[in-house]
Amino acid sequence: MQVSAYALDKIAEKLNLSIKDLNKAFKKKILREDEYKEQKYLLFKKGFRGIEKGTVIFLNENLDVVRGYPKTYRAITLYPTIKNHFIDKVVVEEKLNGYNIRIVKVDDEIYALTRSGYICPFTTKKVKKFLNLEILDDYNEYMLCGEMIGLNNPYTPYYYKEADKGYENLGFYIFDIKERETNKSLPVKERMKLCEKYNLPYVKPLAIVDKETAHIQVRKIIEKLNKEGREGVVLKDPDMAVSPIKYTTHYTQCEDLKSAFTFFFDLGIDFIFSRVVREGFMSYEFKESLEERKIRAKDLGEAILLPMVETINKVANGERVSEDFELIFDSEEDFEEFLYFMRKMKMIINIKNVEEINTNEGVKIKALIGKIYNRTNDKIISYLNGTLWE
Ligand code: ATP
Ligand code: MG
Repeated sequence: MQVSAYALDKIAEKLNLSIKDLNKAFKKKILREDEYKEQKYLLFKKGFRGIEKGTVIFLNENLDVVRGYPKTYRAITLYPTIKNHFIDKVVVEEKLNGYNIRIVKVDDEIYALTRSGYICPFTTKKVKKFLNLEILDDYNEYMLCGEMIGLNNPYTPYYYKEADKGYENLGFYIFDIKERETNKSLPVKERMKLCEKYNLPYVKPLAIVDKETAHIQVRKIIEKLNKEGREGVVLKDPDMAVSPIKYTTHYTQCEDLKSAFTFFFDLGIDFIFSRVVREGFMSYEFKESLEERKIRAKDLGEAILLPMVETINKVANGERVSEDFELIFDSEEDFEEFLYFMRKMKMIINIKNVEEINTNEGVKIKALIGKIYNRTNDKIISYLNGTLWE
């Protein structure tokens, strides 16, 4: 570890931790060193004494801190949860189904950090290209928190029509601007005003409602989003004085299950119980008839069983199943750099195809990459060969 005693002191002070705590975090490997290009940084792999997972400390002269994006708690019932949690008005925003990114400028360089606190080369390059980030010259103490969405991404490949850019389906929407060292959010209105001023894309409110009647309006919004195949909502206090909470659609619960049960021995257990519970409470709260409840049950059952059997079939036919995603890179070098990053993230990948494509911005590289779930593949083979369930 290259951190000097002086640096350690300053980091402890900034994070409001003792040196003893910091050393403990190092020892437990909660605090780890990593680097992106020449820039070394420390990274919290887990939450520790009030410091969020994904918090990063740049090992530069300033020891710039970027706090991790806090967990968003989930409402299981709309009533009385919203009424109990909020103060007065509630801003209803759409919850986008992509991956969380924090954009910061440190020592004149732009970085895009993933939720777990890695500087992602793919995302860093994309945001530098898509966005004019002058805002971070004027407000260097801020981080832009947003969702990267679209089919052509390596983490949550999910199609959004608004993210279509011709040769690439990828977009970014800011949903929060925070002071990066304290994690304090700007009020919703101020965030939107700044985004307007700097011409940055942001998530617009679907409605602003009174907390007393919010459950009725949110239910209507959820039913509409459900029909449109969208993920759900995040509810916020206009001043961000209390933490936001999320609520998702039936459609999303089923989509989550479908993707998890495609790789069921890797992801099934972690996904199933919480999704089924969400559906149970939704069915109760929406006062469904038996007929409606049976439709929900059928959707749930199909979301679990159909992808599972499809996977078993594929493996039985000799295929190794993988989760495929297609990414667009500006150069061979960018592609190589990202491959190195994925391997560092311990992603087991299989490059299925690489080709050059002509776009209105010149020649680019399109790569089809498969993420391998070994456990699912291996266990299916073993049960097909007669292994007993323990
Ligand atoms: P956690 O529950 O720890 O926050 P998770 O990976 O389970 O993380 P999600 O279920 O996707 O996350 O819900 C929280 C995430 O939703 C946020 O971290 C953010 O990336 C994303 N998100 C999408 N749209 C919004 C929005 N409008 N406002 C806030 N967050 C949003
Ligand atoms: Mg998400």
